[in-house]
Amino acid sequence: MKSKVPLAGRRGEADPLNSSKKRAGNAQKPGEWGRAWSVDLLSMLAVLFVLCCCPVLPIYYYISCTDYQCELSTPITKLVAGDVTLTQLWQHVPSVTAKAAALYAIWFTFQVILWYLPDVCHYIIPGYRGGVCLGAVTPAGNRLSYGVNGLQAWIISNALFLANAFHFRWFSPTIIVDNYGPLLIMANIMGYSVSIFAMVKAYLFPSFKSDRKFSGNILYDFLMGIEFNPRIGKWFDFKLFYNGRPGIVAWTIINMSYAWKQYELHGHLTNSMVLVNGLQAIYVVDFFWNEAWYLNTIDMHHDHFGFMLGWGDSVWLPTMYTLQGFFLVFNPVHLSQAAAGGVLFLGLSGYYIFRAVNHQKDSFRRSDGQATVWGSKPKYMKVEYYSSDNKKRQSKLLLSGWWGIARHMNYTGDLMGSLAYCLACGVTHLHPYFYIIFMTILLVHRCVRDEHRCKAKYGSAWDEYTAKVPYRLIPMLF
Ligand code: NDP
Repeated sequence: MKSKVPLAGRRGEADPLNSSKKRAGNAQKPGEWGRAWSVDLLSMLAVLFVLCCCPVLPIYYYISCTDYQCELSTPITKLVAGDVTLTQLWQHVPSVTAKAAALYAIWFTFQVILWYLPDVCHYIIPGYRGGVCLGAVTPAGNRLSYGVNGLQAWIISNALFLANAFHFRWFSPTIIVDNYGPLLIMANIMGYSVSIFAMVKAYLFPSFKSDRKFSGNILYDFLMGIEFNPRIGKWFDFKLFYNGRPGIVAWTIINMSYAWKQYELHGHLTNSMVLVNGLQAIYVVDFFWNEAWYLNTIDMHHDHFGFMLGWGDSVWLPTMYTLQGFFLVFNPVHLSQAAAGGVLFLGLSGYYIFRAVNHQKDSFRRSDGQATVWGSKPKYMKVEYYSSDNKKRQSKLLLSGWWGIARHMNYTGDLMGSLAYCLACGVTHLHPYFYIIFMTILLVHRCVRDEHRCKAKYGSAWDEYTAKVPYRLIPMLF
């Protein structure tokens, strides 16, 4: 998005428009890369759509499963046909219970405690990178340290869940699915509270003033965030905490809870439920194994912390990313051996591509272009950009390996894995396929957004790069 508000004066910088003219063809205005500075009408409509529709969807999905066997269209059809009234539908919206409030509070507090535990995994697991790690340089030129210990938190949380399920039985393993509705409302309370807190904090006590962005539109700022790296104290980082825990740590536990429920209701586990649990567990463990790498993803060095991350990580991720398991509780699907084999193959090959592509860029950037790619010295382009302290910085864009085939093959692998989760649920219902539809929109939009950002950051060098690697996600097609 093009900035309508001149940057000079807003943050006391030298006139960036003039200085960027002197740098014609090279990187753009200092620190302008990152999320938008101003909001046009289309963006505003998108903001309103996201703020109004997203909170409704997890609740609608919950109602459609618990009351209509996951028939997505039934609640709407009945409403249109006059078989139910809006008031009757509204009565299906869950409310908070004391049990769910206590469960959520215990879970959240436990995750905060785990967050502060020093990481032991990187001492005892060969090849794992954890402990104190450095993040990327922010648009304002800051570089923060993070205590990376997500794998440890995941292992402890999941081991405790399994120890309880198979041995201690302090609570039923189906506790999450049994309290799904009230927990969903608790997650919403958390999501809204943290988003409002982040907004107030950005104005009153920001962690890094120079890394804030104000678009001038309060709704846009609420959705996309103002602060880049809000923190409490030196170590509590909102972005890293909310993305990994409670959301992604909970993902595998929620799935296990679904599996237990299916067993309890139907007396057996379907191969589809095993596939969904297995494939998604690989994705989750991969995330925590590579948490140090995650510090260099767009989430961490592009997105500001607002409703999109705060509410998204609290509500959207634990509900909409786990909807295949939820569906299979109500609709146990038995796949033929060939179909199960096909889903497994698609899921594992998607994961392989996703990991290999991300690994290639990570080792290329960490070795400053020295690491070999597919056994050879990599080809790359040297590029320049300016951070908002007006310092000229250098970077490199990889042209070999997966990064020479298309510009975002990691997204392609991710989409293949996402499709596999949906196909595991058979083809009778639309419900589980929401995930692949959502992921396709998310990653295509993300791809375009990222390229827009890279163009703003690297200027005409980015055009040279896209001419050399012309496809985005699928070679010869897109
Ligand atoms: P990438 O890891 O692809 O990072 C994009 C950045 O990499 C660009 O902004 C640029 O940053 C740099 N870059 C671009 N081209 C090159 C190149 N040729 N050589 C070297 N660096 C390059 O994207 P994300 O951070 O979005 O995603 C990371 C992973 O997370 C992906 O696999 C994605 O599928 C996954 N993901 C999953 C989501 C989910 O909900 N399941 C959501 C979002 C992402 P720079 O400024 O450093 O040059």
